[in-house]
Amino acid sequence: MDSLSKLSTEDEQVRERLLAINDAMVARTVSWAKLNTGSWNTEGLKGFAPGLADAFSELDADVRLEPSRPFQTVIDTGETETIETGPVLRVRARPDAPVQVVMSGHYDTVFPDGTFTKITDLGDGRLNGPGLADMKGGLCVMLEALKAFEAGALKDRVGYQIVVTPDEEIGNFASAHALTEAAQSGALIGMTYEPAMETGAMSGGRKGSAVYDIVLHGKAAHAGRAKHEGRSAITAAADLVVHLEDLNVNPHGVTVNVGKIDGGNAVNIVPDLAIVRFGARAPDKAAADWVHGEIEMLLSRARQREGIHGHLHGGFYRPPKPRNAAQQALFDAVSGTGRALGLDITFEDTGGVCEGNNIFAAGVPNVDTLGVRGGRIHSAEEYVVTSSFAERASLSAFLLNRIADGRIDAAAIKALMS
Ligand SMILES: [Zn+2]
Repeated sequence: MDSLSKLSTEDEQVRERLLAINDAMVARTVSWAKLNTGSWNTEGLKGFAPGLADAFSELDADVRLEPSRPFQTVIDTGETETIETGPVLRVRARPDAPVQVVMSGHYDTVFPDGTFTKITDLGDGRLNGPGLADMKGGLCVMLEALKAFEAGALKDRVGYQIVVTPDEEIGNFASAHALTEAAQSGALIGMTYEPAMETGAMSGGRKGSAVYDIVLHGKAAHAGRAKHEGRSAITAAADLVVHLEDLNVNPHGVTVNVGKIDGGNAVNIVPDLAIVRFGARAPDKAAADWVHGEIEMLLSRARQREGIHGHLHGGFYRPPKPRNAAQQALFDAVSGTGRALGLDITFEDTGGVCEGNNIFAAGVPNVDTLGVRGGRIHSAEEYVVTSSFAERASLSAFLLNRIADGRIDAAAIKALMS
């Protein structure tokens, strides 16, 4: 693996090119961060996508915007509503090249329109602003790494598909199909552009993540005149919540969190509706199956209460991404490549989830924190380290060079998945 840390001619070329455009990458990221693309801001997402497609047209590739799939959400009345969001950016290059890579990212952020808009120079080589790290900076890094790779002599050895989604922060319900399809079109390795930690550490194993809504119906009645005729959905929900939280004591590494309860009405009405909204995380498939079974059992228990019925929505939308032999081999290759840049890259397991989970579930080993270095993401203190743009774009371009020249044997890494 020591050959990974040596600099090739192609490496030196991309390094020089990317160092020269570090500030331009920061400037483009700032201009993108000024446009709000909160996951529920459909107009903002639809307005942003054409400019993103234009930027990716700088690649020697086929670029198109594809409508995302409408998806359903349980609204506060207990009914489901169909949501249509922004398009998916799809980019494809050299499908006949010997090695195929799938790359992904998202252009939505967690910040609703008008909530966090200001870009602030923190004065210590860091910028604060919405989506700078997560992940408009990552999209810039992906794009410039590919442009640098394509300017080199190894271009024809690697083809790729890119999927950039409008809904990663809310679960990829509108775009998961595109990730799976791109991963399963012959890709050997996946590369996703979530931010790395400020220290440069990247994510290793990831848990799987589920979101659930349990809708409980009872029977309304006047609380004064006919309390005995009512059947309280809130009482059933309260009992259910306690049992769901009790699932946290388990030997499987599973966590469950009830995040929200909707329903009820005025205090003089026995409530006929309650919606229990919760999440679950599990380190592997057996643990995910276990907790799903427990949840179904608790729902059937709630239904045994007289006059109560209910139903379950949701499930494990992101399967677990454990650190198997293929993942470890890829992490070792990334660490070895990092040494060529003087970086000491470590991988840390996390309970967080991302598109890398979907790509792993589609059978493709992947590294998912190839974006910029930053921190405090999902808060108004989100920041990016400005010098990390050229550094991380170089890391990606170096990986592509090694995948192309065979120093990273992508086929051998993928073979470890089975
Ligand atoms: Zn992200």
